[in-house]
Amino acid sequence: MQHFVCIDGCGGESSNPKVCETEGCKREGEPLIPCTCESGLHEGAKEKGDTEQE
Ligand SMILES: [Zn+2]
Ligand SMILES: [Zn+2]
Repeated sequence: MQHFVCIDGCGGESSNPKVCETEGCKREGEPLIPCTCESGLHEGAKEKGDTEQE
């Protein structure tokens, strides 16, 4: 089920699309990232930039 995560910020989660409301979070006011993972690791929501290594 889709959820929304504050990646690179406070790590907050919501089941609804919204912006981060955590005071002091560096992503406060930024939209949470949609994610559909089932593992809880939010691997699909991470912003591109990390080099994947296997
Ligand atoms: Zn946040
Ligand atoms: Zn996730």
